[in-house]
Amino acid sequence: MTASLRSEVTTLLDSLGVSADLYSGGTLAVTSPLTGERIAEVAEISADEAKATIGRAAEAFKVWRRVPAPRRGELVRLLGEELRANKDALGRLVTLEVGKVPSEGLGEVQEMIDICDFAVGLSRQLYGLTIPSERPDHRLTEQWHPVGPVGIISAFNFPVAVWSWNAALALVCGDSVIWKPSEKTPLTALAMQALFLKAAARFGNDAPAALSTLLVGGRDIGELMVEDRRVPVISATGSTRMGRDVGERVARRFGRSILELGGNNASIVTPSADLDLTLRAVAFGAMGTAGQRCTTLRRLFVHSSVYDTLVPKLVNVYRGISVGNPIEGAALVGPLIDAASFGMMQDSLKAAVDAGGTVHGGTRVDVNGEASFYARPALVEMPSQVGPVLEETFAPILYVMKYDTLDEAVALQNDVVQGLSSSIFATDIREVEQFLSARGSDCGIANVNMGPSGAEIGGAFGGEKETGGGRESGSDSWKAYMRRQTNAINYGRTLPLAQGVTFDVDGGSAEA
Ligand code: NAD
Repeated sequence: MTASLRSEVTTLLDSLGVSADLYSGGTLAVTSPLTGERIAEVAEISADEAKATIGRAAEAFKVWRRVPAPRRGELVRLLGEELRANKDALGRLVTLEVGKVPSEGLGEVQEMIDICDFAVGLSRQLYGLTIPSERPDHRLTEQWHPVGPVGIISAFNFPVAVWSWNAALALVCGDSVIWKPSEKTPLTALAMQALFLKAAARFGNDAPAALSTLLVGGRDIGELMVEDRRVPVISATGSTRMGRDVGERVARRFGRSILELGGNNASIVTPSADLDLTLRAVAFGAMGTAGQRCTTLRRLFVHSSVYDTLVPKLVNVYRGISVGNPIEGAALVGPLIDAASFGMMQDSLKAAVDAGGTVHGGTRVDVNGEASFYARPALVEMPSQVGPVLEETFAPILYVMKYDTLDEAVALQNDVVQGLSSSIFATDIREVEQFLSARGSDCGIANVNMGPSGAEIGGAFGGEKETGGGRESGSDSWKAYMRRQTNAINYGRTLPLAQGVTFDVDGGSAEA
């Protein structure tokens, strides 16, 4: 088993066009969470090389910004074609490197294909505005220009999709992109870069070298990019700790940051909820991806009238869920990313018990011995929202609490520092609309009759408060990857000033 994982990874990387010297003999060891086996040693970039790469990306930007946007869209269309042709291989690599179950590994690649399709259409729709001017014979417009290299920092749990949410938009917007992937997932990043280079080769000479570049390294390399004034936009996805640091550094140099940080997502189950649907949605929301989605359901508020019907059934589902190596069987819950993650899960469960919680599940499941970390998802009945319930523990822990009025449930839901995703289960339209109203959920995402996770790329994705406020993906998120310019154009022969201001000077004619 152990030897075959490494050789399968090698075969996949080879088929995806990654040269062997990039992932063998390097200083960054990569282990598969499926078995704990070392599957590669990736070459890391030095600080000097990283600075030179940023310089090359800045040069590439100067060329790319002049390529017409619909033509830029053609490159992203070709990238989507490469992803379609290599969906199985890349999806499999996601599973081997991150431990996602196969359908989620493939789903991640599908999401990339979707955002490419979206961006191709967008490349003909980077609309500005025409605004009525208050002055005669004047025209007022607003247009959008490429902004410069976009630095992308990504987290381990969506090792390639997050890059594509940013890169597909940035590329059609006329920006070059520089990617610092998670140090836990450099292999999928190398594969993605190889696919990009294939698409760029098919596209032809309009795509400058260094249009998309990769900085494989640790936090120090991320910091170096964040500090670099040649990178006007930094899009950073990861923990709130990371985002606070990145946000402050970028703000200090008056750069722009797009921050997609941690969540502490909640669902409210009301008396009118369809409980069968709720059960299935809660199971996927809380246990899918082994609780390692930023949008994972972490807090469940259940109305006291349905608590005793729903929660025992939920506990049963938790007992029966299959945990295991997803490439060997049909397990729905795969491994945690590493030992540290498992340790944090156990610490949170202990803190929950200390705060009066009753824990169902949460124990270690021995799948491949000591080197891998599988856990039975935990459902914790809590007397109140205290201690670990207020934090994001990046593991499958669902805290369940009772409530009596919707006002109380919404207040509890909003009473955390994070503001990413939320949902309500209800068929009572008044409760649904209250939840979606200005006095309802304070999150960037608020769903109805589904869990908080599993977003589509068509909507803007992101959250409020300590989730960072950034938006990526669909809707008008593209505007963050461009600079806005307002143009006032005088096509008359006089010079009327705005707001009726006068400023008449002599010397306007030859006689004066
Ligand atoms: P992490 O914050 O540890 O690392 C994320 C990335 O940031 C890595 O590439 C890392 O090298 C880099 N980094 C860390 N500190 C840095 C610094 N000071 N300067 C520059 N770069 C730095 O996160 P993780 O453990 O990989 O991922 C899990 C976290 O990501 C969770 O909190 C999850 O909620 C969050 N996440 C959020 C979203 C979202 O869209 N809101 C999506 C996915 C993951």
